[in-house]
Amino acid sequence: MEPQEQGISRRQWLARMGAAAVVPAAAAGVLAAQQSHGGHGAPGARTPATPEAALRSLMEGNRRFAQGRANNPNRTLARLQELGTRQAPFAAVLACADSRLPVEILFDQGFGDVFVTRVAGNIATSEVIGSLEYATEVLGAKVVMVLGHSACGAVKATMDGQVVPGQIGSLYPYIHPAVEDARGRGVDAVVEENVRNQVDILRAASPVLASALRGGKVVVAGGMFNFRTGLVTPVVSPPRT
Ligand SMILES: [Zn+2]
Repeated sequence: MEPQEQGISRRQWLARMGAAAVVPAAAAGVLAAQQSHGGHGAPGARTPATPEAALRSLMEGNRRFAQGRANNPNRTLARLQELGTRQAPFAAVLACADSRLPVEILFDQGFGDVFVTRVAGNIATSEVIGSLEYATEVLGAKVVMVLGHSACGAVKATMDGQVVPGQIGSLYPYIHPAVEDARGRGVDAVVEENVRNQVDILRAASPVLASALRGGKVVVAGGMFNFRTGLVTPVVSPPRT
């Protein structure tokens, strides 16, 4: 749900999200820098200082994974204990819930690096938008990536328009505009169109993200993960600054 729907102010909403909410994004960024020793990426790597560097870190991690030279950083219990009760992820990802899409593995990241929201079809529901607002505004994540993938079952089901049990069909309205936009093309074309649509929704429907975008604190990007190559290819690139 969005804060407006409950008739509460953004400040009240942030306060309800827990004690960490009192840490403004800028302070969270400083915290991230202070915690960067032994932090994300290769041993000794520093937390990305800018949104562009944060996006680059994700893409470089994916290349390492796809080329079979992953560092598997920050995967130890010691790292988790070092983080303790604090977190300052440098990136936030909205990915499909598909079991073949483990975000930390495919971007070669570990504990505390990426704030991940996952739902079938990587759709920007109100709850997802609220989570991503928390990741950026409160925790200081500098990049938000919407991540689709090849042969997405949620997209295929929407294209087929089959009658499905339970609430599976609740995914369809979010994905259906992409089916219309990419009509006559294959499932992967619809996946790409859906990534573009969800990026547009994030940019337009979230005043928090829109403000962070205007202020240059965050970039929003879209990508597509290919099961055959292991690579994420850009679908939506942030505008150059
Ligand atoms: Zn999927």
